[in-house]
Amino acid sequence: GVRVRFAPSPTGKLHIGGARTAIYNWAFARATGGTFVLRIEDTDPERSTEENTQIILRALRWLGLDWDEGPEVGGDFGPYKQTERFDTYKAALEQLKERGAVYPCFCTKETLDAKREAAEKTEGGYSGYDRTCRSLSAEEAQARIDAGEPHVWRLKVPENHGPIEFDDAVYGHMSFPADVMDDMILVRTDGTPTYNFAVVCDDANMHITHVIRGDDHLSNTPRQILIYEALGLEAPTFAHLSMILGADGKKLSKRHGATSVEEYAARGYLPDTMVNFLALLGWSLDGETTIISRDVLCEKFGLDRITKKDAVFDETKLDWMNGQYIKTMQAGEWVKLSTPWLAQARAAGMAAAEGAVVVDAAEAELFALSDDEQAAAVAETAADIEARPAFYEALYPLLAERETSLSDAAEKLPYMFWGKNVVLDAKSVKKVLQKEGARADEALRACREVLANAEAWECDPMQEACRALCEPMGIKPKLMFQPLRVAVCGNMVSPPLFESIELLNREDVLARIDATLA
Ligand code: GLU
Repeated sequence: GVRVRFAPSPTGKLHIGGARTAIYNWAFARATGGTFVLRIEDTDPERSTEENTQIILRALRWLGLDWDEGPEVGGDFGPYKQTERFDTYKAALEQLKERGAVYPCFCTKETLDAKREAAEKTEGGYSGYDRTCRSLSAEEAQARIDAGEPHVWRLKVPENHGPIEFDDAVYGHMSFPADVMDDMILVRTDGTPTYNFAVVCDDANMHITHVIRGDDHLSNTPRQILIYEALGLEAPTFAHLSMILGADGKKLSKRHGATSVEEYAARGYLPDTMVNFLALLGWSLDGETTIISRDVLCEKFGLDRITKKDAVFDETKLDWMNGQYIKTMQAGEWVKLSTPWLAQARAAGMAAAEGAVVVDAAEAELFALSDDEQAAAVAETAADIEARPAFYEALYPLLAERETSLSDAAEKLPYMFWGKNVVLDAKSVKKVLQKEGARADEALRACREVLANAEAWECDPMQEACRALCEPMGIKPKLMFQPLRVAVCGNMVSPPLFESIELLNREDVLARIDATLA
């Protein structure tokens, strides 16, 4: 069966490009009934950290990409961290020695640097290691090893090797001349494997059938094929993925803003959105469908519909897609995923001063939280959610239609937590309350009357009763409702008014109106 792997180097967070590679491998495994392996390529001791490994695992879990074999899951072909697999690289080297496919090289760094420098000045330029040690006799080489002379192990690229060819599942037929291939180092002086050697050993030992990875590895592929040949093994199928570009046509990077999965999570994008969106960066279901559920992806994903054209990361489309997913989620799921932003709304709301206050700054800025405050707010909010889940779930329809990010809740919902207090937006006070003066007060008083006497604290009848005031009072609906909106929500732009009122309690709503009228 199909066995694929995602093989991140834990030298940083999980980037958008890496996440797409992971999604393709995962979806391909799911679509083929195959196995998705996660392997941590941590052989670069200077740049790899356990912390980064944990960040990557967390990001993969957040995306919902479950691996069948790998760290914390185990499997028959472990361990799944390269630093724990050194004995397998040693064994592979022994095999290559037996096959006469490698040789020890004693050239020092100084010698090599000097040779390179000299060669670069010649017409042909530097064309790789000059193979000095390749011609040492076996006895001499062994004698120098026995004498403890430092050495690396190089691959003996066969003489007269024809072009190195393979059929890439995305790029099609590829051919690289072998005579320009360096006798590359497989094992360093300190006994550690080089990148290409470790990857080939692992992919072979883990019985990987398809290598799906970024096309920044395309130039490694002919080298890796030479190593497979030296080991007498068949190479897997390769599928190289094109680059992801920013809207300006340049390779996606920090300059374009967020680049890691973690940052997108922090900005309020849903895991479903990210999986759908990233899947479409270079693959399509039919050339037109944009909303593709996980289930469909896991059923229909195939290498044949991956394009070699560079993909463009379109933030506008991402926002639109996130809005689509938010609209269709379950209220309970929305509450769970929105907790960090509900916590901000709640903290801001509860910090509202008593009585009516007019503010100029956006409320979110006014009540910006430090990391510690945020952590405390999240814990308190989680407890509050547990105590009254129905209230929080009822907030979902207030935002669902218009939200493009879960983070919108932080800015739009503080008024749901004001209690009897109200924070009036300065611009709204001016444009709604002051502009209409006595008429606005009159409308607000009339609505207060209605709400104070409403028999059922329900959205529709209350709204109808307020609307019924318009004609006898000679006030247009807009002027009737806007002052009420400002008094209850603090702003002339807010989530649906009467739906909000229904979720608040009568005393609080009346208190806010009184504070605004005062
Ligand atoms: N560890 C490599 C990287 O993070 C991936 C190697 C591969 O997929 O072959 O770029």
